[in-house]
Amino acid sequence: MKTITLISGDGIGPEVVGATRKIIDATGVKITWEECEAGAKVFKKGVGTGVPTETIDSIIRNRIVLKGPLETPVGFGEKSANVTLRKMFEMYGNIRPIKEIPGVKTPYSGRGIDLVIVRENVEDLYAGIEYMQTPGTAECLKLISRNGCEKISRLAFEFARSEGRKSVYCAHKANIMKVTEGLLKHTFEEVAKDYPDIESGNIIVDNCAHQLVKKPEQYDVLVMTNMNGDILSDLGSALIGGLGFAAGANIGDNIAMFEAVHGSAPKYAGKNNINPTAVLMTGIMMLRYIEEFDAANAIEQALFVTLAKDKILTRDIVGDVGAASTTAFTDAIIGNIGKTYETQPKRNYKPLQLPRVSNDAVVAKQRQVDGVDIYLENNGDAKSVGKQLESLCNGTRFSLKTMSCRGVKVYPAPEVEIASTDLYCCRFMSSDINDGDIIDLLQRLSAKFHWVHIEKLNVFDGVAAYSKIHGE
Ligand code: NAD
Repeated sequence: MKTITLISGDGIGPEVVGATRKIIDATGVKITWEECEAGAKVFKKGVGTGVPTETIDSIIRNRIVLKGPLETPVGFGEKSANVTLRKMFEMYGNIRPIKEIPGVKTPYSGRGIDLVIVRENVEDLYAGIEYMQTPGTAECLKLISRNGCEKISRLAFEFARSEGRKSVYCAHKANIMKVTEGLLKHTFEEVAKDYPDIESGNIIVDNCAHQLVKKPEQYDVLVMTNMNGDILSDLGSALIGGLGFAAGANIGDNIAMFEAVHGSAPKYAGKNNINPTAVLMTGIMMLRYIEEFDAANAIEQALFVTLAKDKILTRDIVGDVGAASTTAFTDAIIGNIGKTYETQPKRNYKPLQLPRVSNDAVVAKQRQVDGVDIYLENNGDAKSVGKQLESLCNGTRFSLKTMSCRGVKVYPAPEVEIASTDLYCCRFMSSDINDGDIIDLLQRLSAKFHWVHIEKLNVFDGVAAYSKIHGE
């Protein structure tokens, strides 16, 4: 008997999660559901995270969660309860299958879309680390770790193996963000060597978006960073019929939380007309995760029979006339358990082997600092600021190499005039400098300028660990 933490959630949550629970129970699979609260009700009780201690304890005990959508009511709590849960339990992988559903007509019907997006879930721009550098310029930090890249890459390959899939492609923007997106691409290529049974490759993410609309059936498993995965997986859900069909799993080393992509759709709450398929397919993923393969297959087949053979469809697919209510749709699926939808090819599902990646620090055998980028708040003319900085370097170990604005060189004089903002990045080069040299330079600067932040120009194992400036 497996115990699972069940969070019904807000809005349509109780209807769609309730339907899923009823269908899973109807297969006879032995599950005890531990009902817990999170979301709007909890925020309103004054719990600032939206997740009470009893729910956290239940999750730690059971390690598997089936969760409905959660709302953050206006005026309560700073952060979404969903994000809190994902981060609290370091659920680093978000798996979103995008699979053509029999009986659900879309412009792509008949093309056999059957792909999975594996999205990194805790790093990247979505860590939400942001600063106004000046009153006029904002910054968001895109932090990507080597260990995080290894974990998500291995998870993608392991997931492919668990479903007998043939290929894994890394979709990235390493052509522009060579250091951050490049870290995922390079790490992925290293990890791929451990999976010779699976074809691997990479694709630039904007081309991937284009290909997903043009020929989505060419893909099997795609792995990508957090924001790219967020955007492309929503695009993917539209290919197969919309949010009513988009399932998802959040995977961590110790805890897995299964939740559909959609939210609480408050305007449909309590109307008994919402589509529970996304949460049901999420429940199917959960059953496979806990190795209840027969129950998962039985539900999938019953769902397909209901949709494609019996043509029982909810309002989001057929509109108001002739639509089945949520409860009628649920009962029809339960009535079809045991039936098979013959033409649907079954995958050879196997237990997912979770990757165990060391959290040890990545060390460089050799390191040096080549210089420093200092960001200055300044609206002045680039040439006159540049000249002042050059004379300020006299008597120090630094020389001014370039000034740039939003990554583009503005000094020494670029070939074409570049629009400036109120933030210059000033690149000072030297060799073999130490922190004292940098502090000395900052002190000189601060007498005349308003510096905002600095970045060291590190060289790790002989490789420059910083980007070049456009026009440098
Ligand atoms: P939403 O996904 O709740 O709804 C958008 C629209 O999609 C709905 O109006 C409806 O037309 C359609 N839709 C969604 N689920 C459907 C289903 N099961 N069947 C049929 N149609 C469906 O997005 P939203 O309106 O932007 O968000 C509402 C609330 O949900 C917000 O408070 C948001 O923060 C929250 N939210 C939570 C999660 C989560 O818990 N993981 C995810 C997204 C949004």
